[in-house]
Order: sequence, then structure tokens, then C-alpha cells
Amino acid sequence: MTSHHSGRELRNEILDDVYSSSDLLKQLPKVHFPKAERDPRHVFAAVRDELMLDGNSRQNLATFCQTWVDDEIQNLMSLSIDKNMIDKDEYPQTAEIEARCVHMLADLWNSPDPQGTLGCSTVGSSEAAMLGGLALKWQWRAKRKAAGLPADKPNMICGPVQICWHKFARYFDVELREIPLEGDRLIMNPEEVLKRVDENTIGVVPTLGVTFTCQYEPVKAVSDALDELQRETGLDIPIHVDGASGAFLAPFCVPALEWDFRLPRVKSINTSGHKFGLAPLGVGWVVWREADDLPKELIFDVNYLGGDMPTFALNFSRPGGQVIAQYYNFLRLGREGYRKIHTACYETAQFLAKEIGKIGPFEILFDGDSRDGIPALCWKLKEEQGIGGYTLYDLADRLRSRGWQVPAYSMPADRQDLVIQRILVRHGVSYDLACLLIDDIRRSVEFFAQHPVTLPMTPDEAAGFNHN
Ligand SMILES: *Cc1c(COP(=O)(O)O)cnc(C)c1O
Repeated sequence: MTSHHSGRELRNEILDDVYSSSDLLKQLPKVHFPKAERDPRHVFAAVRDELMLDGNSRQNLATFCQTWVDDEIQNLMSLSIDKNMIDKDEYPQTAEIEARCVHMLADLWNSPDPQGTLGCSTVGSSEAAMLGGLALKWQWRAKRKAAGLPADKPNMICGPVQICWHKFARYFDVELREIPLEGDRLIMNPEEVLKRVDENTIGVVPTLGVTFTCQYEPVKAVSDALDELQRETGLDIPIHVDGASGAFLAPFCVPALEWDFRLPRVKSINTSGHKFGLAPLGVGWVVWREADDLPKELIFDVNYLGGDMPTFALNFSRPGGQVIAQYYNFLRLGREGYRKIHTACYETAQFLAKEIGKIGPFEILFDGDSRDGIPALCWKLKEEQGIGGYTLYDLADRLRSRGWQVPAYSMPADRQDLVIQRILVRHGVSYDLACLLIDDIRRSVEFFAQHPVTLPMTPDEAAGFNHN
């Protein structure tokens, strides 16, 4: 039986070329579900090519997330493509690896009993934060009910938090008392926390590596102030630390900084494995100080997968590869390896801060000092506009033409007037890449001086950069 071939199709069969195939000589479906099947090679090429437009993630200096992994991680991810984190009975060794990671993190964060702590992996810090927040809410409610007091107006106190805490507050009906910024104070301090605490406070959430400026909030000072408050009033307010970035940095680079379970008031900590934990995208962690800090009512026992397994998570099915890659990193790097990698990042961040400061129009707000924050830097314009009338939004846009993503954004309340620009230095943002970026910033500033901006960009036009 001969099928009808057009001349073009016949030619393609002989040529066997992807781009001149009949599949790819027309626009691919974008709305309607495709009718027919296509050659996998052709579709692969088309999809891969479309991904080029995402830009080069290594030049994305906006993200905190890992954009470089070694070949061993690639291989482990590929080996674990079928592993479902929730099927703890079917994949007992993956479950065992998750448990080991929890103990190791508890140890890294100076838990009094790393073997006995409870914790779990999550999709990222957002889910981990929800679980930490829920535990605080449940603990507070149990205490109120036991005392015969109303438990319908919970509140939580924080500084300038990542959006996941706004979600937590709204989804789970908790009043968020976010401390407004004031002048040069761009993070929380103990005095502002104490002003907002009351009997309905489920907890205080300091961030170790604030999203906007990358600074560490003063966990110990806040904890000390709450100790004093308890002595005076009897109010016992727990702390959950959002260590999305910092919990994988401070233990290696500033081990003397007390922010973790060394402070008895710190009841739980969340972190993102896929940020400075150096794992591929899709893993976070939450660990409780002691088993009693996680209310039993939040734990579900699932038996229909074949075993009796306690789970505490918002998700059900979830890939296991990221957890396996995390464990690989712990074994591969140890404290020593993490310290080396992160120290290199801090040095590059400090170098960038020094050189960007030297260009002239910028004032560095955070310079990548490892005692004060994460390997990153941020700055503002000294004047409202630079020579040539540009704003940081224009500069961000100009740098995009060379592939760099260096976001500019305004601060939260009460400093919405302050516009800053930020660079995250992650594994793989090398010293040499930093030098190339500095040249491009200098060239951009010169460009604006020669080609003045007639209409500076507005925040809305510049929107689209992520702040994660
Ligand atoms: C990134 C980040 C989050 C959210 O973490 P994901 O892992 O992206 O879900 C929460 N808090 C802080 C401080 C962060 O930096």
C-alpha cells in the first residue's frame, strides 16, 4: 500500500532533518489540544528551542535558587525520576534518606537531641513555613483552650517577610503584624516586636536573610527581649525562624552566631534546600526543636500505601530526587565543603559591592558581610536619578540587553519610597563573571550619560522580575 506523499514530505524522509520536517514547518499548537501525534525528535527540538527564550539562568542574579549542579546530581536526579516522596513504604530507602537529612539539619542547627527531633522535607520554604506557622497556631490554641480563654484572634509578628507568610496569614486566618520599616531600619528589632506582642501572639518570625535587603534579622536579641517579657508578664512567645537562605549559610560561615536551637525559644526552623542547600529546585525543610513542639493533631497516619506512615505535609505526591540530591550534598560537601563554596560567594559579593560603590552614583545598603546577611548585595541611587535621568528600573532594563537579570524594586511599608537593586551571589556566580557584570554596569551608566532617558521607567513597566 502506498500512502500519498507530497514532494516536501518525501524529501524530508530522505533528509531526516528536524527543522525542515513537516512537523516544524508550521506553527505548533498553542491553545487547542493537538489532534495528531508528532515525531518525538521534532517536538523535543521545538520545546528545547522555546526554552532558550527563558534566558540564561546563570545570569539571573534575582533568584536565590540553585542554577548550577554537578554531574553526579544530574545522574541521581535521573535515577530517581520514579520515586514518590509520599510512598514511604514503597520507597523505604528514600524515606530513610529524608529522615537522615532531618537529623543532620537538626544537628547543624544545634538541636539538643538531633536523633529525637521531628521534621520533614517539603516542596520548598513556602510549604515548610506553612507547616511551621500551623504548628505555632495549634500550640497557641491548645494553650488558650486549656486556660479557658478565647482562641479566635491569633496574630503573628514579623519584619519584612517573604510573600509565603502573607499567604500563611490569609489562608490560615492569622493576623499578620508586619513591623513597618523606618528610616535606615530595614529589618525588625526587639523594641518593635515588643510593641506588638500580646496574649494572642502565636509566635514571632524573624528572617535569616530578608528577601528585600538580604540582611539577617537579630534572632538572639529578639529572643532575649522575649525572655525578659516572660519574666515580667508570664507571656511565653515562641519563635519560628525563616531561614530559607540563612539556615544553610550561618552554620558554615558564622558558626558563632546564635540564631538556632541554641536559643530555647526557637521552636522551629524552615529552609530551602534548593537555595543555599545547593540541591536542585523542589526541596525545603522544616524541623522542630523537640517532638513536643509539633502538635500531634497535625500528623496524619496514612495506611493505604501499604504501611503505617505518619505524614505532615500539604502535598501528597512529590518527587524524591531532590531529597536524594540533598543527602548527596551533605555527604559530598560536609561542613567544610559548604563553607568553601559559600565563602567564595561571600567574597564575590563583597568584591561586587566595593566595585559597584566605586562607579559613583550608587550607595551600597548591604555589602555581603557574612555576619550580617547572605552572599548578596543591594544598593540605591544616591540621587533620585542618575546622570542622564535614569532610575534603577532603567538600569535593570539596560542590563537585560546583555542577559543579566538584576532586579530593581521598591521596599515594603513604610519605605515604599526607597527603590533598591539587588544581586544574589550563588554557587557558580564566579569572580570572573562578576568582573564582566561590573563592566556592563559601568557601560550602562556611561550609556545613559550619553543618551539621556526622556521618560524614566515606572515600577509597573519594570514589573516582572521575581523577588523569590
Ligand atoms: C525564598 C524564600 C521563601 C520561599 O521559599 P521557596 O523555597 O521559594 O518556597 C521564604 N522565605 C524567605 C526568606 C525566602 O528567601
